[in-house]
Amino acid sequence: MTNENCCKCDSVVEDGICCPSCQSFVHPKCAGFTKDSLSLYKKMKNLRWYCDNCLSYVDDVKGISKLINDKHVALDMELKKISESGDILRNDIEQLRIAVDNSKGKLDQVASVDSLKSEINAKWSEVLVMNKLFKIKLLDDKLKSIRISHDMTREQRTDYRKLVDEAKSKEADDGEDFLYRVRGPVGRWKIVRFLKKGK
Ligand SMILES: [Zn+2]
Ligand SMILES: [Zn+2]
Repeated sequence: MTNENCCKCDSVVEDGICCPSCQSFVHPKCAGFTKDSLSLYKKMKNLRWYCDNCLSYVDDVKGISKLINDKHVALDMELKKISESGDILRNDIEQLRIAVDNSKGKLDQVASVDSLKSEINAKWSEVLVMNKLFKIKLLDDKLKSIRISHDMTREQRTDYRKLVDEAKSKEADDGEDFLYRVRGPVGRWKIVRFLKKGK
C-alpha cells in the first residue's frame, strides 16, 4: 500500500520519511521529528521509522513470535520426553537382550539334560533287552546241557568230562587271551578256541 500523501495529515508529502514496511510517507513534523532528531535519523543508518499501522503489526508479530517460541519450547520438551522414553526403551531392550542371552544358556542346559535323559533311557532299554537275551541264553544253555547229559551214555559222559578238563587246562596254559570250550554234537565233540572279548 503506497500512499503519496502523508499518512498522518493526508496532505501531499514532498520531502518526507518513508515507512520501510509499507512505503507510506509522513511529514517529519507529523511524525514528531525535531530538527535535531531528524538529522540524527538521517545520520544513523540502522534507525527506522514505522507508521502506526505497521507498528501495530510489529506488536502482532511479537505475539506471533512469542506463540511460535512457546510452541518451540513445548516441542523441545516433547522431543526431550521422546528422547528420554527412547533411552528407557533402549535400556529395556538391552535388559531383555541380556535376559534372553542368559536364558539361552539355561535352555541349552535344559536341552542337554533332556538329550542325556533320552540317552540314558535308550541305554537302559538296551540293558533290559540284553538282560532278557542273556537270561534266555542261560536258560537255553541249561536246557542243552540237561539234554546232552540226559542223552549221553556213561562212556560218552566220561569222554565229555575229559574234554572239558582238557579245555580247562588248555585255557590255563594259554594265559588270558583265549577261552576253550567243548562244542559239537554228542560223540563228535571238539575243543573250540574263542578269542576273549575286549582283547
Ligand atoms: Zn502530515
Ligand atoms: Zn507503514
